[in-house]
Amino acid sequence: MARYTEAKCRLCKREGTKLFLKGDRCYTDKCAYERRAYPPGMHGRIRKKPSDYAIQLREKQKVRRMYGLLEGQFRKYFKIADSKKGVTGANLLILLERRLDNVIYRMGFANSRNQARQLVRHGHFILNGRRVNIPSILVREGDVIEVREKSKKIPVIQEAQEVIARRGLPGWIEVDEKAFKGTIKSLPTREDITFPINEQLIVELYSK
Ligand code: SF4
Repeated sequence: MARYTEAKCRLCKREGTKLFLKGDRCYTDKCAYERRAYPPGMHGRIRKKPSDYAIQLREKQKVRRMYGLLEGQFRKYFKIADSKKGVTGANLLILLERRLDNVIYRMGFANSRNQARQLVRHGHFILNGRRVNIPSILVREGDVIEVREKSKKIPVIQEAQEVIARRGLPGWIEVDEKAFKGTIKSLPTREDITFPINEQLIVELYSK
């Protein structure tokens, strides 16, 4: 069945970087950003110097879109990050990394965060022995996440496991691939988030 596949790739072009929103396709030469790395639309190739506000806005949109969040949800995470001890920008990224859907993507049980979210909503995972269906749960150190027995044969979960070798596993996560089981060895730190992000721009944007 034909699928509309352009919309997510438009987000990468808009943000001027690969956001890896389409799973395996992002690592192939079918990646739309690799083929045409300029913003979408008629005026996509016209270059003009962006304002400070535009630069801050684009950085925020990049991170928000990468984690697949709505503006209201993203702002809520910012408020929580701002109320915590430490550096607000780093706190924000760490909170986003701790979301269950992100962790499942990182563990290689889904090809994208969006797919992970759907799989969680459909109840395919067990967190510390209990079935869960809330993608926004924040994982803690020592948490154990497993694919439900009857979900292990789901093709998207099996395919995703094959792709994890390309993405690599972050150091704060441990995965037993044969058992379809992952453990949070420690909470992520800012240094664990290697995707190029200037979170200070987001802090400046929201501090206006
Ligand atoms: Fe599309 Fe490439 Fe972005 Fe993946 S990384 S969503 S394939 S443009």
